[in-house]
Amino acid sequence: MLRVAIIGAGPAGLMAAEQLVPVDGVDVDIFDAMPSVGRKFLMAGKGGMNITHSEPLPAFVARYGSRSPQIASLLDAFGPQALREWIAGLGIATFVGTSGRVFPTEMKAAPLLRAWLHRLRGAGVHFHVRHRWLGWQADGSLRFAAPQGEVWVQADAIILALGGGSWARLGSDGAWVPLLVERGVPVVLLRPANCGFDVAWSAYFRERFAGQPIKPVIASVGQKSQQGEFNITENGVEGGLIYALSAPLRDAIERDGQATLTLDLAPGRSLERLISDLSKPQGRDSLSNHLRRRVGIDGVKAASLGTKANR
Ligand SMILES: Cc1cc2nc3c(=O)[nH]c(=O)nc-3n(C[C@H](O)[C@H](O)[C@H](O)COP(=O)(O)OP(=O)(O)OC[C@H]3O[C@@H](n4cnc5c(N)ncnc54)[C@H](O)[C@@H]3O)c2cc1C
Repeated sequence: MLRVAIIGAGPAGLMAAEQLVPVDGVDVDIFDAMPSVGRKFLMAGKGGMNITHSEPLPAFVARYGSRSPQIASLLDAFGPQALREWIAGLGIATFVGTSGRVFPTEMKAAPLLRAWLHRLRGAGVHFHVRHRWLGWQADGSLRFAAPQGEVWVQADAIILALGGGSWARLGSDGAWVPLLVERGVPVVLLRPANCGFDVAWSAYFRERFAGQPIKPVIASVGQKSQQGEFNITENGVEGGLIYALSAPLRDAIERDGQATLTLDLAPGRSLERLISDLSKPQGRDSLSNHLRRRVGIDGVKAASLGTKANR
């Protein structure tokens, strides 16, 4: 028997186990530092688990930015539709939301994870929780901190599925980076890819508008532009549209120390029409009434026009 050790029991590790366990002559052990598996996956299901998107494949692939060429061939082998079918095989139906995103009908990750673990256990995958991987022994065996003390495990092949470096309390803390660097493995440093951003709102704007959504809106950073919505927070901005633009925002801040997020507050109205509508006489209307009546910009959208915000 060939023994394969998978370290990390998030969706990546579980999927690796699923691929390996039917192979004859392979025994699969999966290790995780946490007391139970798939904790981040479960957290992902709390706000409504978005499993994929229904948009045409070329647009979907383009979302992977500079990694699109590598990801495209993976998605050819297992794309959004295949993922939906795979989930259906676990007895979980999915639906396409108004935004085109795909969700399990119950919106949660827990029923999916439960069914998946049941299937993997039934297929013979051995689970070892509370096993924190610490690196290697001189003889190549794996070192784990386990409840009974340090244990060493020999494996014929190792798959590392350790997640990134966010939400450390759910298990993925990025502590594996130095372990690989010490072994001479080239590692791209972990960077935030899906995050909110700080903005220095004025006290007035923060008190009045924190918690409010800006929608619909088209947001652009450099060449990248997308319609959707996001939220004003006490300290900045967050939400789906911001996450979609996180990478170019992050890159601009790393490069220039700041980033400019350009907002089209009146999507669907051409610039010419906007100019013509706003050029109509204001009469006795205040500026805010004029904006609201002529082009439908009011509330937090109108306030954002007068707000000077710095990152
Ligand atoms: C609030 C929130 C909402 C999200 N919403 C969505 C969503 O709607 N849709 C979506 O697709 N994604 C969503 N995500 C992202 C999704 O959860 C992750 O992309 C996914 O979990 C990554 O899977 P992974 O298996 O690569 O890593 P992880 O799920 O992070 O799993 C890595 C595992 O490795 C273990 N591990 C790490 N280091 C060690 C070690 N040294 N020894 C042993 N074990 C170790 C960890 O305990 C963990 O269980 C969300 C994430 C968060 C935090």
